[in-house]
Amino acid sequence: MKSVSSVDIKERKKVEEELRLLSQYAQDAIIQMNSDGLITYWNKSAERLFGYTEKEVLSKNLHSLLAPQRYHKAHKIGFSKFKKSGQGAAINKTLELEGIKKDSAEFPIELSLSAVQIKGEWNAIGIIRDISKRKKIEQKLRDSEEKLRTLFDNINDAIYILDLKGNFINVNATACKRLGYEKREFLQMHIHDINAPELIAENPQLIDEKLWIVKDIVETVHVAKNGKKIPVEIYGKQSLYQNEPAIIAVSRDITRRKITEKQLKESEKKYKILSKELELILDNIPALIFYKDTKNNFIRVNQYIADAHNMKKKELIGRSLFEIYPKDQAQAYWDDDLEVITSGKSKLNIEEPWETKDGLRWLLTSKIPLIDVNGDVARIIVTSIDITERKKGESLKRIFTEKLEKEVQYRTKELNDALEKQKLYLDQIEKSSRFKTEFLATMSHELRTPLNAIIGFTDLLLEGIFGKLNEEQLEYIKDIDESSNHLLDMITNILDISRIESSQVTINIEKIQLNNLIDNVISTLRPLYNEKGLIIDLKGLKKEQLIFADRIKFKQIIYNLLSNAIKFTEKGKVTFEFRDSKDMWEFIVKDTGIGIAEKDFNIIFKEFKRVKSAYVDSIPGSGLGLALTKRIVNLHEGDILFTSKLGKGTAFTFTIPKNLSSKVNLEKIVKSFLSKL
Ligand code: ADP
Repeated sequence: MKSVSSVDIKERKKVEEELRLLSQYAQDAIIQMNSDGLITYWNKSAERLFGYTEKEVLSKNLHSLLAPQRYHKAHKIGFSKFKKSGQGAAINKTLELEGIKKDSAEFPIELSLSAVQIKGEWNAIGIIRDISKRKKIEQKLRDSEEKLRTLFDNINDAIYILDLKGNFINVNATACKRLGYEKREFLQMHIHDINAPELIAENPQLIDEKLWIVKDIVETVHVAKNGKKIPVEIYGKQSLYQNEPAIIAVSRDITRRKITEKQLKESEKKYKILSKELELILDNIPALIFYKDTKNNFIRVNQYIADAHNMKKKELIGRSLFEIYPKDQAQAYWDDDLEVITSGKSKLNIEEPWETKDGLRWLLTSKIPLIDVNGDVARIIVTSIDITERKKGESLKRIFTEKLEKEVQYRTKELNDALEKQKLYLDQIEKSSRFKTEFLATMSHELRTPLNAIIGFTDLLLEGIFGKLNEEQLEYIKDIDESSNHLLDMITNILDISRIESSQVTINIEKIQLNNLIDNVISTLRPLYNEKGLIIDLKGLKKEQLIFADRIKFKQIIYNLLSNAIKFTEKGKVTFEFRDSKDMWEFIVKDTGIGIAEKDFNIIFKEFKRVKSAYVDSIPGSGLGLALTKRIVNLHEGDILFTSKLGKGTAFTFTIPKNLSSKVNLEKIVKSFLSKL
């Protein structure tokens, strides 16, 4: 061991003195260790920092004041090498370590060690600084940087950082995602690589060529890697980036906004068209259509109402009802409006008067409230139809209907009265007809008896049974005979007609040999036609021709027709023709006689009617023959008609149905069957 010289002592004392002095002013902890690492000096700041007094730490190893996790670093302070050379890994370095306070609390420190040789022995001087505050600030910085980065990458807007020439320096994740480039690709690109070329050409002011600054917020179009065009809104500003001047541009994707704007424009366009169409429709509807605000002013009107008031549509707008209509009428309209405004409910089909330039008219009006978002009535829509004509029509119709009803009532009464009268007449007619028939039947019967007696006695007289008559007596008796026979014929005919009319006569169908019957009639008439020199011609008559009819009555028909033909024919011939048709037999009696004038056609079948002419008058007759003939034909369910030409001749045709016999037989069977029930 070396002896300590006075100089050394002096020297040491001097150093110690300097150190102590220094340590008084030092903010940092200053400690001294010997070559074994034991603490030999501990200043006030060290005491304050670690909580140990100098006394407590002297001869302690520095390691015990350092946190074990940092120990390996502290270990580097290893003093074995240091002892000899004053060299150590930690010497002349600043280490960041964790110190341990007396109360065991750990805190960050910065330790700087330097070697000092004192009396040939290496000592270490350590300066320890509490770096808690710095560490905290650093952490905060790191945190905020982290936040910024997160924000940078997660913000919905794309952020481009460009140098002043327009080259990309940095971009955020949104930019990459939106345009489809990777960050490293961006860093090789220029802002013009993403700007739509046509837009740059159209708007050269879009980007300042010199500075590449977007002067204001502008809308432009960016082109993605895949060529997709994306409308954006971009704003750029010159700033510092990593201490270099740069342009920071923020771009927002406005695709959705553009779509919305487009939709809005389209809907505006549609609305305009719709509004035009609506106006056109409203103007062409023949009704008053308008809407008003709740203060009684017109907001919109159609052409009809404008025309009605001789005004232009725009002249009406903003006006109140009271400026257009007489006060009373305007008030009445307004009262209805107020009802709609306060109740919020429509008023439909109000009939109201309407004062126009052409006079008073009538309207059928409906008022409908338009409710706003707050549920209040904002407008009233009014539609009115002019019902003046309809009203007029209605009152006319009413008057007409009333008149008609009265007329109908009156006429019905008249008709009823007439019907009543007619019924009475019919009753009377029926009564008198019955009376007439009965009367005629009785009278005919009553007359025939004495007449038959007259004829009988006359015949006896003529035959000279009561003595020979002189010329004159014979003459008179012949007259009596002729007249009596005529009277008897007439009475017989009247009786027959009456019987047929009162349905007292039935026909008795028999099989008739037509040839025989015709021959029989003709031979009866022979004296008559021989006298005149007339020819009787028979046509269509087959031998043994059979027909079915009531023998007596059928004979009467033939007799009447043939006798008439002979009576009214002076020369020529009388033809009887028979025709066998499908369902009936036809009989025609034709003559070449005087004929019948057309004007007399309607009297031929009427009772007691004869054609008025000197010739007819000269021929005896009663005008009953054809009336009876027709009835007999009808009894056989046949028809009779004639054709005639005055001076040329006449042809009577009558028919008898073939099935008459079966019909009559059937009737008979049914009748007898019924009578037996
Ligand atoms: P009547 O022969 O007794 O006068 P009828 O009833 O037989 O009565 O005939 C009515 C009238 O019809 C006759 O008076 C005559 O004027 C007209 N008449 C009938 N048959 C003929 C005929 N064949 N030719 C012309 N006139 C006829």
